[in-house]
Amino acid sequence: MSGKEMMLGSVKDAVAFGANTFMLYTGAPQNTRRKDISELRIQEAHELMAQNGIEEFVVHAPYIINLANTVNPATYEIAVEFLAKEIDRATAMGSQTIVLHPGSHVGEGVDKGIASIVKGLNEGLNTVLTADTPVNIALETMAGKGSEIGRNFEELARIYDGVSHNDKLRVCFDTCHTSDAGYDIIHDFDGVVEKFDRLIGKDQIAVFHMNDSKNEPGAAKDRHENFGFGKIGFEPLMYIMNHPDFMEVPKILESPYIKDPENSKKSYEPFKREIAMIRNGKFDPKMREKVVEDNR
Ligand code: FE
Ligand code: FE
Ligand code: ZN
Repeated sequence: MSGKEMMLGSVKDAVAFGANTFMLYTGAPQNTRRKDISELRIQEAHELMAQNGIEEFVVHAPYIINLANTVNPATYEIAVEFLAKEIDRATAMGSQTIVLHPGSHVGEGVDKGIASIVKGLNEGLNTVLTADTPVNIALETMAGKGSEIGRNFEELARIYDGVSHNDKLRVCFDTCHTSDAGYDIIHDFDGVVEKFDRLIGKDQIAVFHMNDSKNEPGAAKDRHENFGFGKIGFEPLMYIMNHPDFMEVPKILESPYIKDPENSKKSYEPFKREIAMIRNGKFDPKMREKVVEDNR
């Protein structure tokens, strides 16, 4: 959300892309500066959603939120405080899901990091959530770059184990990240889901990030690629897209913008073409060229 249109602008974009769900950041993804709830244009946004049959959308907390930081207490405090306010905003906007990166332990080790995340979620959730707050926190599966926590399902399960209000937790399953973390979603998505089901429960997946990856499985890199153009590929992603267990789960594209080969300063949103290709069910090797043409 940005500018004067805020949430209304997000819905306009989603409609223009041909989407039936969407994800937004409540401000810049890189910082925690946020406008007052009264300025978000929520009412108009919901009218446009209703007109276009969009029922559900997802909020993503900013990247810099790090509940796992035990080195700099200010980082942790900002994270707890921001999370509480983000829950208020998401409630006002009518989203049921806030996606959160569990955090990075910044060298202090997984155990300390997880303990800090659990403490932060307990503090954050206890101050604002009541039994009937309609918002859940979806912990994202991470690629495992740097000191990221959430590189495997066991780490997410440990967070569930520690959080007292864990009925308010969910998971955001990022396909690029799980592949980068070494799960074979290319050949055995059902086997990966089985593992997830045993540790956390597959009904806990509240959102998918449907990203392809620039890197081979297990690379622990986290570099997204356009849908079907990376090392995961179109068919494995479509298998997940159409999986009967997750038909009602929102699926979000976090694809990189496409650079104009004749003007390196320009890059274009790929979403309209990607969504059309997904609806069509057939890989279009010329998709990226078409995006560039559309914008010229
Ligand atoms: Fe994310
Ligand atoms: Fe993601
Ligand atoms: Zn990512």
